[in-house]
Amino acid sequence: MTALSFDENVTTVATGDPRKALRAEVRTWFGTIMPEVAALRDPTLPVSEAQDFAMRRRYAELLARDGWAGLAWDRRWGGHGAGFLERLVFAQEAARVNAPDPLSRLGVDIIGPTIGVMCEEDQQQLYIPPILNASVIWCQGFSEPNAGSDLASLTTKAELGSNDNWVIDGQKVWTTIGQYADMCLVLARTEFDELPHRGISAFAVPMSAPGVTVRPINQITGGQDFCEVFYDSVVVGSEALIGGRGDGWKFAMTALGFERSINFMTRQVKLARQVEDLLEQIRLHKSVVPSHLKDRAVDIYVRSVEMQATVGQLMSSIDRGDGPGAENNASKVFWSETFQEVADLGLELEQSVPGFRDALVVDWAHTYLAARASTIYAGTSEIQKNIVAERGLGLPK
Ligand SMILES: Cc1cc2nc3c(=O)[nH]c(=O)nc-3n(C[C@H](O)[C@H](O)[C@H](O)COP(=O)(O)OP(=O)(O)OC[C@H]3O[C@@H](n4cnc5c(N)ncnc54)[C@H](O)[C@@H]3O)c2cc1C
Repeated sequence: MTALSFDENVTTVATGDPRKALRAEVRTWFGTIMPEVAALRDPTLPVSEAQDFAMRRRYAELLARDGWAGLAWDRRWGGHGAGFLERLVFAQEAARVNAPDPLSRLGVDIIGPTIGVMCEEDQQQLYIPPILNASVIWCQGFSEPNAGSDLASLTTKAELGSNDNWVIDGQKVWTTIGQYADMCLVLARTEFDELPHRGISAFAVPMSAPGVTVRPINQITGGQDFCEVFYDSVVVGSEALIGGRGDGWKFAMTALGFERSINFMTRQVKLARQVEDLLEQIRLHKSVVPSHLKDRAVDIYVRSVEMQATVGQLMSSIDRGDGPGAENNASKVFWSETFQEVADLGLELEQSVPGFRDALVVDWAHTYLAARASTIYAGTSEIQKNIVAERGLGLPK
């Protein structure tokens, strides 16, 4: 099997535009910052949650300090105004050095861009610069115990109190990094006589506000990446209503559009890198890897090449202004299923081939457990397929 050169994949294959100068600059930057980031973990042990979050926070600060966080952001908010293909180059270089997932990711990739689209200048100026300089970390409070796929049925409510303040009551669940975030984007019902999706508004709620209780949830990975969050008579000012009253559904759909495009691009590129690591390990142990597992590795390699070409095309189409469409939903399904197949194979190899385990690059047992959630978060596979069928293909319900 010929090794795929990661440096020459997506942009070269899909667009013929290697963006060499940017790539070289980004590579040099990673060369200067990664020693500091990597020093935050003990190289002799698997990464602990405390180490992981320390690395993610420091990496977010360095991205902000050196201006890379805003690579594709509008110049008027301090960004560089580059496109999604440039972000793709950056993501490839980040994956090449196994950079951590920055703690600012939800703010930079999803919530900030959504505020940019949905809000007036005063709110953009209030909320966007602290996202870019990594002084405020955001989390996303959409899902509730009885409102996940059917988000419009959410029951957290916000009612106008005195002095134009809002009073929020309810419970959210699966709030990723809720225990580390400074601010949460909370969807709450403000209109009670409207159709369910029309009565929702979006609020910026400080996680330190009186009445906010955060309870981390134990996961099968052993970590606590997400939380349940309770809002008991939490009072916020009028500036906390983000966008217009009743615009929460539009806000959520815009945010999900960003999540399934730029945010998933990063994950797809990272997965391509993991496939390379897996293939390299198989090459190193080729005399003892059973042939049926090599066959599976070839199937995964084929999927990885397809995935990378698709990512390049999707980023080009967003740069052309076509916006994220149903292809993004299809791409999310393809990524999440491929991720699970890669993790399944990695675990099987780790368990059956002596010496295969290389926890410093990829801990396959941990990756296997973490991958179970990929067909659920950001919309389950069933929901993605419904969207592809109905909105993308125009098929009847
Ligand atoms: C790791 C992780 C991180 C997350 N982070 C966040 C976060 O930061 N913020 C946040 O708000 N949420 C977060 N979530 C929640 C996530 O968005 C929901 O789990 C997801 O939307 C599914 O909702 P649910 O869990 O309530 O499942 P349900 O909606 O109850 O679905 C249960 C099952 O029924 C199926 N189903 C439901 N409706 C249909 C239908 N109409 N047609 C066909 N099948 C259907 C689903 O596909 C699924 O298999 C996270 C979830 C995970 C796993």
